[in-house]
Amino acid sequence: MTLRTGKEYIESLRKLNLNVYMFGEKVECPVEHPIIVPSMNAVALTYDLALDPLYEGLMTVKSHLTGEKVNLYNHVFQSTSDLVQKVKRQRMLGQKTACCFQRCVGQDALNAVYSTAYEVDQKYGTHYLDNVKEFLLYVQKEDLVTDGAMTDTKGDRGLSPSKQKDPDLYLRVVERREDGIVVNGCKAHQTGIVNSHEVLCMPTIAMSEEDKDYAVSFSVPTDSPGITIIYGRQSCDTRKLEGTEIDLGNSEFGGHEALVVFDHVFVPNNRIFLDGETEFAGMIVERFAGHHRPSYACKVGVGDVLIGAAALSADYNGVQKASHIKDKLIEMTHLNETIFSSALACSYEGVKTPSGAYLIDLMLANVCKQNVTRFPYEIGRLAQDIAGGIMVSQPSEKDFRSKEIGHYIEKYLKGVDSVPTESRMRVMRLIENLTLGTGAVGYITESMHGAGSPQAQRIMIGRLGNFEHKKGLAKNIAKIKE
Ligand code: SF4
Ligand code: FE
Repeated sequence: MTLRTGKEYIESLRKLNLNVYMFGEKVECPVEHPIIVPSMNAVALTYDLALDPLYEGLMTVKSHLTGEKVNLYNHVFQSTSDLVQKVKRQRMLGQKTACCFQRCVGQDALNAVYSTAYEVDQKYGTHYLDNVKEFLLYVQKEDLVTDGAMTDTKGDRGLSPSKQKDPDLYLRVVERREDGIVVNGCKAHQTGIVNSHEVLCMPTIAMSEEDKDYAVSFSVPTDSPGITIIYGRQSCDTRKLEGTEIDLGNSEFGGHEALVVFDHVFVPNNRIFLDGETEFAGMIVERFAGHHRPSYACKVGVGDVLIGAAALSADYNGVQKASHIKDKLIEMTHLNETIFSSALACSYEGVKTPSGAYLIDLMLANVCKQNVTRFPYEIGRLAQDIAGGIMVSQPSEKDFRSKEIGHYIEKYLKGVDSVPTESRMRVMRLIENLTLGTGAVGYITESMHGAGSPQAQRIMIGRLGNFEHKKGLAKNIAKIKE
């Protein structure tokens, strides 16, 4: 088994024959497209850091299948300390990239199907776990990126999958053959798909008997015939085509999402992880969401960068000593660390599933993600408050570099005398990036809807809240005898 370098990873992407579209045109070489490259850089870093003696403790682990060292991303959690390691890795990578580094959905998907496959096999005598293990061995051996794909486009939200007017609005089996199945459908918001070797699909909701063809999970290579990737737009994305750096805020790293269409895609038998066992669709959904919710510790790392940027902007503006500025930075930190606390807590409280794989504590994971749907908005609001309006109104880098007018910007955008104007412009653009530019896709809106929208967590919190037990506690104390 080998851990590949970031460079080797990029070369492996170059060999894929992906069918990617952006702005109405086919992207001939995704690894060189300026809008895609930053997102690829973020994933490449997850390779390089696994080989860095300083970070390998967070980035790698012993495979429970082979005993060899593998990237933690390609691991099924075997203990609560594996779960805690994941959360700490997420924060560290958020600090280093200030974006969505995309790989976590694949790990969380792998974990969800692994533990569920065991339970399906127990009930039906199927051999799904063998398939999952064979797949896991392959991705560990080749050090691959797997994208986890859950969200269907869903059509009329009031109708079940099989009741939709267009039957493809949820991914489904359209043909069963001796050697495998053929699927149709579309997965939305697909994080990191262009930077992935494999796409692991799962059902998006719990299902009933009539939805049998929709209760399907499998993995196929991202360049399989029939897959079309339609790249998602991000706010301010075309700034990456301008050949400048300051205006990007974060010129090195980014994330991406896409619509992924499956048009008669063939899945061989050994890549099927669920097919028709409808009552287990909900288990995969719940476990994937459960694992993915504390993965949002990534936002804590991004929050660290944003808090740092806000503090820097205060220094550059000369207001760092104002008590309300200090208090706002404290508030931002409190919110950020609260997210981290719940991500850690649900990992420390993890439990062993019958398969041997560990699952986080579901209540605390849902509390974690509910925090994530709110706190980055408030942290972003405070960062904008501290930075001042110039973060959205300053002239472009090209104006700053202009021989005719650049000197005006140099002179009038100066804050504290000892700080170069360019530094102040850079930090303002970083705050813009994270709160309304390309970075805000990951830090703000994805915090709301990724790993389930707020209501999904509230339903789980309601279900796990055990109110009857709590009523009993109150009755005891109040000496109510009924
Ligand atoms: Fe990973 Fe965070 Fe991106 Fe989700 S949003 S894929 S958890 S980095
Ligand atoms: Fe996400």
